[in-house]
Amino acid sequence: SDLPSQDQAKEFYGKYEPKEILGKGVSSVVRRCIEKGTGNEYAVKIIDISGEKGEEFLAEETKRDTVREINVLRLCIDHPHIIELHDVFETPTFIFLVFELCKQGELFDYLTQVVTLSEKRTRIIMRQLFEAVEFIHSKNVVHRDLKPENILLDDNLNVKLSDFGFALVLGPDEELTDLCGTPGYLAPEVLSVSMYDNVPGYRQEVDLWACGVIMYTLLCGAPPFWHRKQMQMLRMIMQANYTFGSPEWDDISQIPKDLISNLLQIDPKKRLTAKEALEHPFFKREAAPEKKFH
Ligand code: ADP
Ligand code: MG
Repeated sequence: SDLPSQDQAKEFYGKYEPKEILGKGVSSVVRRCIEKGTGNEYAVKIIDISGEKGEEFLAEETKRDTVREINVLRLCIDHPHIIELHDVFETPTFIFLVFELCKQGELFDYLTQVVTLSEKRTRIIMRQLFEAVEFIHSKNVVHRDLKPENILLDDNLNVKLSDFGFALVLGPDEELTDLCGTPGYLAPEVLSVSMYDNVPGYRQEVDLWACGVIMYTLLCGAPPFWHRKQMQMLRMIMQANYTFGSPEWDDISQIPKDLISNLLQIDPKKRLTAKEALEHPFFKREAAPEKKFH
């Protein structure tokens, strides 16, 4: 209907029964919900676009961002490792995005439970993640917020890339300059363009840097760049100052380290693309047991 009314909210609550909270953001809450007609479960992200008095501008921005998120999701549809948008409802105060439900939640929580992943599990997760990234990049989309909190797991622990809140479609020569994402996962070129004049902007390569940070973290249970003073941490990122420290990395083979090193390249041109990452030897030999000598 063309009535910008609460009808859509009534329609949502008529069609779905909201359940417990699964996650919360600045202006959104995600709940499990049940589609009444089918009994199927989904996750609904309810985004508040009402805006407090004096914050109407913020509300406009949230709405614009959400419309962009929906457009990107519609462009990236139909991939086994990208979250599926099932339904959308829009009212003057809320937007409801109904997604497929990822029952096993965030890769972040899974990692917290198990602390580290084996090379074999890491191979399965990272292959699915690179396939998702290769797909969105083929659609000229850059995600900009890849991290274990935004990688969801379904019943079979399959990866579903989610949270396209910072994602954008890039033109052929378009370069980005705005600082967004999550500090520990920011690529050096994102930091340098926000700190210096006359340096190039950034593009899709930032997602591959984040994949390097994620893969490092999965294998050893700690991030590659960490300092209690954030400025120091950002400096470490810009210098790609990380190590495969002992003892965490002692029993991890050379091949995944080589892949990580080729992702954590300061120069985005030297960094692997998602397609190249999938061709790396780490994904070629299926868990061939390595002989180790100490
Ligand atoms: P934000 O932009 O606020 O980070 P997200 O889209 O990342 O919003 O959702 C916030 C959190 O809600 C996620 O990190 C996850 O824990 C949970 N969540 C989101 N979508 C789903 C889903 N489809 N299935 C299960 N949990 C989800
Ligand atoms: Mg998120």
